[in-house]
Amino acid sequence: MLEFSNISPNNFEQCVKCTVCTVYCPVTAVNPLYPGPKQAGPDGERYRLKRSDFYNEALKYCLNCKRCEVACPSGVRIGDIIQQARINYSHGSVGLRDRLLASTDMMGGIATRLSPTINGILRFIPVKIVLDQVMGIDRHRTFPAYTPRKFTTWFRRHAAKNQQRYLRRVSYFHGCYVNYNFPRLGKDFVKLFNACGIGVDLMPGEKCCGVAKIANRMIKQATDAARINLREIRHAVDSGNDVVATSSTCILTMREEYPHLLGLDNADVRDNIMTATRYLYQLIERGEVKLVFKQNIPPYHLAYHTPCHMAKLGWGVYSIELLKMIPGVMITVLDNNCCGIAGTYGFKKENYDYSQAIGKTLFDSITRENPDFVVTDCETCKWQIEMSTPYRVVNPISILADTIDFEATRQANSK
Ligand code: SF4
Ligand code: SF4
Repeated sequence: MLEFSNISPNNFEQCVKCTVCTVYCPVTAVNPLYPGPKQAGPDGERYRLKRSDFYNEALKYCLNCKRCEVACPSGVRIGDIIQQARINYSHGSVGLRDRLLASTDMMGGIATRLSPTINGILRFIPVKIVLDQVMGIDRHRTFPAYTPRKFTTWFRRHAAKNQQRYLRRVSYFHGCYVNYNFPRLGKDFVKLFNACGIGVDLMPGEKCCGVAKIANRMIKQATDAARINLREIRHAVDSGNDVVATSSTCILTMREEYPHLLGLDNADVRDNIMTATRYLYQLIERGEVKLVFKQNIPPYHLAYHTPCHMAKLGWGVYSIELLKMIPGVMITVLDNNCCGIAGTYGFKKENYDYSQAIGKTLFDSITRENPDFVVTDCETCKWQIEMSTPYRVVNPISILADTIDFEATRQANSK
């Protein structure tokens, strides 16, 4: 396996001081303690390279949303520079709260075994107050419920044996959320892809993509998991499969953060890692797959929210174009605003008010549209929007799985 210590050259010198990134940074708009992307990123880097004690602990307020990078006309990797500075210079060890929040795979493995009890405890107000006062997890935050049966268990019992019949197959990176919280999305993915004549394999050694560990500076643990994931991905690609996920954040992490923040070269497989909607759209566009929809689908109004990491990938268009194929459905693409949760960030007491203030513009725009469903490709955006508005949030893969005529689609793709 190819590995380099610094695949991502720190390109702070490309900054031309235009300050456009500051306009697009959602934290700068609500938190006066945060220096902003230009100062925290390229400007601060010049100081930090002279003396490490120029590091400013306020960089912890960066969401790593990458909106500054999308806006930057000079291609400065501002988010990466800030995250790398946090990794290199931040003082102090990682506390218990951050370790627990970031260990999504370990916590999920335990919680699914005890899910009715754990779900009840996490909803119990006195427990929320204790978590708030003792651990620093804000009492207003709603935890996603854990499932009693993991997605991988369902897949092994009910789907695995049927996948061998398909000539075209993908390897599904289900991620922690599908496995421990919401297997329904994984089942919808298998149903949709099978109807399209595409078999689904899992990667038996899959680990958490590591995004929460990177955000919480658990770099050794993130790197160990990333190495295992890259080994699994290479194995999948060698056997002819592309690797797809229903989470835009998992995809961004494996494509971009592995080389840029963890120093792991993924160049040999990077182009084989993509969102499920991009993979599906490209097959439909090439005429290799056909979707046949049910008759008389209700005239739903769907509001599509582009997650920040999907905006960084530039692939929201694939989800939107697939949704537009559903007959009679009205799609509103919401203005591109951050929801404010940023994974574990919005759970932390010191960030909660900023998190909600950042998301307010998005929440208000959803309320104005008053859709039947909000649609997005990110699980933590779903948590944040469902907690902060009365609207239900659905992944585009589930919308497609619900609206296709399964049998007609299967027949159309069986030739
Ligand atoms: S990554 Fe997001 S929060 Fe961090 S500086 Fe850039 S725009 Fe601001
Ligand atoms: S947008 Fe890019 S070039 Fe402009 S100030 Fe920010 S980092 Fe520098």
